[in-house]
Amino acid sequence: MRFAAALLVALGSLIAGPNAVLDAAPQHPVQAPAFYRLKVGDLEVTALLDGVAVFDPHWLNGTQETMDGVVKGLQADPHMLDGGETGFLVNTGKQRILVDVGAGTWFGGGALGHLEGSLRSAGHTPEEVDIVLVTHLHSDHVGGLTTQDGRRVFPNADVYVAKAESDFWLSPEIAAKAPKDAQPFFQSAQAIAAPYIKAGKWHTFSGSGSIVDGMQLVPVPGHTPGHTGYEFSSKGQKILFWGDIIHAQRVQLQHPEVTVVFDIDPASAAATRNQLLPKLARENVLIAGPHMSFPGLGRVRKEGSGYSWAPVELTDQRNATKGSRQPSRH
Ligand SMILES: [Zn+2]
Repeated sequence: MRFAAALLVALGSLIAGPNAVLDAAPQHPVQAPAFYRLKVGDLEVTALLDGVAVFDPHWLNGTQETMDGVVKGLQADPHMLDGGETGFLVNTGKQRILVDVGAGTWFGGGALGHLEGSLRSAGHTPEEVDIVLVTHLHSDHVGGLTTQDGRRVFPNADVYVAKAESDFWLSPEIAAKAPKDAQPFFQSAQAIAAPYIKAGKWHTFSGSGSIVDGMQLVPVPGHTPGHTGYEFSSKGQKILFWGDIIHAQRVQLQHPEVTVVFDIDPASAAATRNQLLPKLARENVLIAGPHMSFPGLGRVRKEGSGYSWAPVELTDQRNATKGSRQPSRH
């Protein structure tokens, strides 16, 4: 696993500052916190931007032909591998549930870690969050849980993660045997989890049951040992929070066999993707993907031998309140 070093190099380039500003007209390089709301049945889903990120082509593993295509594609469009880091709030009317919480200060510094600000902009406080569902324990998905000095950002939240995931990343024995450049992932997972474990707020689950009403666990192994999606349903509508099924949307949807260096079991990650995508396209399921372009909400469509991404549009708001499962356009 050589990804940690590559990650730090790439993140360094992400936090590079803006061009020099003129004193007379000071510029403001920081974006406003961003959120985007959508109704899914009775659920109010809010995408919360944590930050933007650019995927490095060297993190992708595919056939020579596919990778040559990526290089050519990047020459034509340097933004081809741009993506995001997004967490999602599901307000059921009874509970406020976060699904993944972005990087906090554990992954990439200034470019990421803005989810708490986005949450506040959307009208919520961290104290109001009842539950955090975690797709996996990579720090770009759970870093927002905990500050560097070990404070729980969501002091009243119970955190849920698959047992296989928790057992893997929190095991001192597995960490000790892992390659040196993978160590930071274990260290961050352990530090991020520690205050929740101490407070009795860290919970694990096995299998595919449910944690809250109207939610189904969807095991999606491969990327990490306990990688889990969460599917919420309300009034005949569904939304799947799919974690890291896709990292580079403009490569892996057309080529689901392409894996990433962060996959613990690449073959299994590709198999999971190949199983899931046809079903999601066929059933027109609304998807929430942390690394898709903000707001990270959309649907997959069959296109040629692969798939394409149809981002949500404002019309989805109307469809959602009408109870339609079909988009009104295209
Ligand atoms: Zn990720």
